[in-house]
Amino acid sequence: MRKLGIAAQIAMTARFAWERGPGRLTAERDRFSDVRRVLFRAYGGTEFYRAKFDAAGVHPRDVRTWQDFQNVPVTTKDELVAAGEAAIVRAETGKAHVSRSSGSSGQVLDVHGSDTNWIKDSLIGVEAYRRHLGLRIGDRQLYANTSEYPYRSIGGLGYRVAYFENLRPVGELADRLLRDRPQVLLVYPSIAAELRETLRALNPLPALGLRAVITHSEQSSQAFRDELAAFFDCPVQDEYATEELGRLALQCRHGTYHLVEAQSHCEILDQDTGAPAAPGEPGEIVGTNLVNTTMPMIRYRQNDIGAIGSTTCPCGAPRGRTLDQLLGRRNSFFTLPGGTRIASGRLLDWTYHLILSERLDIAQFQLVQTALDRVVLLVVAGPGYRPERDADVVRASFRHLLSDRVTVDVENVPHIRRTAAGKHLPIRSELPMSSAQPA
Ligand SMILES: [Zn+2]
Repeated sequence: MRKLGIAAQIAMTARFAWERGPGRLTAERDRFSDVRRVLFRAYGGTEFYRAKFDAAGVHPRDVRTWQDFQNVPVTTKDELVAAGEAAIVRAETGKAHVSRSSGSSGQVLDVHGSDTNWIKDSLIGVEAYRRHLGLRIGDRQLYANTSEYPYRSIGGLGYRVAYFENLRPVGELADRLLRDRPQVLLVYPSIAAELRETLRALNPLPALGLRAVITHSEQSSQAFRDELAAFFDCPVQDEYATEELGRLALQCRHGTYHLVEAQSHCEILDQDTGAPAAPGEPGEIVGTNLVNTTMPMIRYRQNDIGAIGSTTCPCGAPRGRTLDQLLGRRNSFFTLPGGTRIASGRLLDWTYHLILSERLDIAQFQLVQTALDRVVLLVVAGPGYRPERDADVVRASFRHLLSDRVTVDVENVPHIRRTAAGKHLPIRSELPMSSAQPA
């Protein structure tokens, strides 16, 4: 993803100085007016939402209460993939940053966002980390991810973020940690597990001086994060964020997931009826992005399960909504014939990177380990997919990752089977024991 330009950086710095006025970003915002603003923009600016709202008999001006908002139809990833540019606000096509939803659903969606969207996203992130991690202006963050975040700092010096590309070997991540000495590390839980093994091999184990680790992009258990916290000697807090909706919730030091209300309006819907779930009852997470006004996400079905609660947390955050019983997708690791494990995050990144760099027209995939020496990539092909040539490309690429002791087959299928909970699972292992993944 390209970085924010100089003008955008200056705008962000100015805005940050202004927003830091007493509690502007932290104050309970009027989410409802933000939601309405997004509704009007989507209806006026995109063919997709106009047609969708018209078909449902809903006009943004009729949405005056949260009750009215329930009449706005939900949006699915399939619909957005099918809509393409029709779901992007007309005036902004072509000048947006494009990121890809690699939210582990195994289905590829380009998400478009403008400089303004990313500036807001960055400021909300800084504010959330200040509150829940105790982030300070001079701290440096090391962000290990598949794609670079466009934000690097505020004003060149404050809240700096350096990027580490997840596809690099984990040994390089260890080197970066030891060389750059960031205060905060943002990392996939599965990669944090690999990192821990790499660091353990060093003798003596160096002091890292981390103040916090944020896990992101994959589900991990609290028990596993507690283990990581003991190893890294700092709190390990989970961020629940998606490409489509941004940061939905961030764990504080007491383990509570506080909703990041400035970024998205979160709802929980009953999985069977689509009606709002009762408070505290688990259901499907549906979100409306209040920041991305380039490619609006309105009542977007995130395909994860959670419940919304409300609590006064010992961390001292103002009483507000929390996300409980978060149950996302659970991916597996693969085991190579020599016993080496490959983390689900690495497998997922590898596959996405391959699809993007080789421009493979793959609408959906699932990578399945069927035996110790056999892996199958199930592919739902788009019109531009060339089965023989592209399967060769896939096999050649995975040989690098999995070694030539593993046979990789590519199979075209009409659709990918979902789990009982209706989820896409992009990385799956049929080997026994593989459900006991460390994350
Ligand atoms: Zn808290």
